[in-house]
Amino acid sequence: MTELEQALEGVKNVVILGHIRPDGDCFGACLGLYNYLDSAYPHVEVDLYLEEKVDKFSYMNHFDQIRTEKEERIYDLCICLDASDIERLGDFAGYLVTSTNSVCLDHHITNTGYAKVNLVESSASATCEVLYGQLDEDKITKETAECIYTGIIHDTGVFKHGNTTSRTMAIAGKLMDKGIDFGGIIDGTFYKKTYIQNQILGRALMESVRFLDGKCIFSVVRAKDMAFYGVTGQDFDGIVDQLRITEGVECAIFMYEIGIHEFKISMRSNHCLDVSKIAQYFGGGGHVRAAGCTMSGNLYDVINNLSLHIEKQLESTPCITE
Ligand code: AMP
Ligand code: MN
Ligand code: MN
Repeated sequence: MTELEQALEGVKNVVILGHIRPDGDCFGACLGLYNYLDSAYPHVEVDLYLEEKVDKFSYMNHFDQIRTEKEERIYDLCICLDASDIERLGDFAGYLVTSTNSVCLDHHITNTGYAKVNLVESSASATCEVLYGQLDEDKITKETAECIYTGIIHDTGVFKHGNTTSRTMAIAGKLMDKGIDFGGIIDGTFYKKTYIQNQILGRALMESVRFLDGKCIFSVVRAKDMAFYGVTGQDFDGIVDQLRITEGVECAIFMYEIGIHEFKISMRSNHCLDVSKIAQYFGGGGHVRAAGCTMSGNLYDVINNLSLHIEKQLESTPCITE
């Protein structure tokens, strides 16, 4: 019996939570678990709360069941997915506190171990990979497989990031055997862009600036430009990855304005820089090669602060990229 199966023993109701600004792994893990419980534990009542519903993931079964408004309710078990700390649970963190028991499934190296049972595997490509390891393979339906596959392709950049392992590929193979439309999921959620998303991508690339001798690159989208294009943070998916593959670049930074003098920062590295340490220093978190945080101050202070930390780390651990 897995730890998750043990936690589910005798439980009558469950609440599933993900992280704020939910991404593909978050939707995949939350809806994957929701679908799994729905079919393998039909007597258990399950509620799923997420901050927002992103339309491109609406093909996942039970997407319509996602709740975005908090309700007065206490649960036997709270399961937190892909969220590395309590703040990442946003408005729904209260359910973690009031639930009789809690389990966290995650893969962030910066996870703080905030639940009663913490199943954190920092070597796993995605929380969906951790989740898969906790489920009974034979009870995974095609609907559940679609969700878990989605999470894996999003957090591995379609099996190309360094977090992809032979285990990741073996799990993806098992999920394909469930009859999912794997090509459709990849194109529909990862590569497909709206016209406006392509425009903002083009603009962000055109306005990008290299620094630290071309080892770093950054681009920023200001709030007034977001309003002009009518875009939200979800429309920037993929921009930081495009910056990262610029020749000679070790570290890519993409940021957008979320308030007055407040920026959401995304960082990616290629070979040696541990961006999770930098994000963590500024109150965020993530993985060695992909991390994020929010920072306050004017744009130049923010860039300078990040630059100082990047330079310090690159000096102490010289990076051989060629
Ligand atoms: P992003 O750049 O937003 O795609 O995030 C990259 C990775 O860092 C993801 O695994 C996120 O879960 C994590 N991350 C991003 N922002 C934060 C934050 N403020 N606190 C903790 N982890 C974060
Ligand atoms: Mn995530
Ligand atoms: Mn993840």
